[in-house]
Amino acid sequence: DTSAPAYQRILLKLSGEALRSPGSMDNISPEIVARIAEEIAQAHRAGVQIGLVVGGGNFWRGAKASVRGMDRATADYVGMLATVMNALALQSALERAGVPCVVQSAIEMKNVAESFIRLKARTYLDNNKIVIFAAGTGNPFFSTDTTAALRASEINAEVVMKATSVDGVYDADPKKVSDAKRFDAISYQECLERQLKVMDSTAFTLCMDNKKPIIVFDMHTPGNITRALLGEPIGTTIS
Ligand code: UDP
Repeated sequence: DTSAPAYQRILLKLSGEALRSPGSMDNISPEIVARIAEEIAQAHRAGVQIGLVVGGGNFWRGAKASVRGMDRATADYVGMLATVMNALALQSALERAGVPCVVQSAIEMKNVAESFIRLKARTYLDNNKIVIFAAGTGNPFFSTDTTAALRASEINAEVVMKATSVDGVYDADPKKVSDAKRFDAISYQECLERQLKVMDSTAFTLCMDNKKPIIVFDMHTPGNITRALLGEPIGTTIS
């Protein structure tokens, strides 16, 4: 049912919001997590090695809390802990979908997750286990997009795939401008010149400096996560 994958190893970034069901009070929807896990499992069965970074925005964002008076670094640690909850939910769903999966946390939390050890992560991936990188980079003032860019380089992933709620990069906000043009492919340089927001600037620069292509795609269309992971040309490729 699935064609041969174009990639050997990829890094998939899921936002925390991706795990929430619209209009529900739940921060994590078990049904949605199961659906995402099934799509990832399908690509995994086709032979793609997958590193996963999940955000925490469904629970908390450090920058938002700091605007409201909280110490920024502490607020960011809260945000990093939020990503661990998401990582555990995804791990459990992936295991249920039949995929062996390890969580490595950038903040030590040994009762629930391994600590991030780069060479161990690479060995797991070589042995076709999915590795979920939790707790971001372990440092405040960074984002999980930056974590994705960093871990992608550390594990030698061929691309960073950013699963979002839009189907690619446009020359204007498609929700505001009706004739906004979508790019199939665009260079890092043109993104910078046109001031198109693909990721935060730290994450974007890291990808650009390490020549890691970024693929932005819409994850809400059923089957899209599998398609993207298998290398079908969906979304926008920035390289
Ligand atoms: N965070 C951090 N350092 C990191 C990664 C994340 O401090 O390396 C914190 C930060 O407060 C951020 C929160 O964790 O707002 C959740 O991550 P993010 O906003 O990237 O999640 P997403 O928007 O992808 O759900």
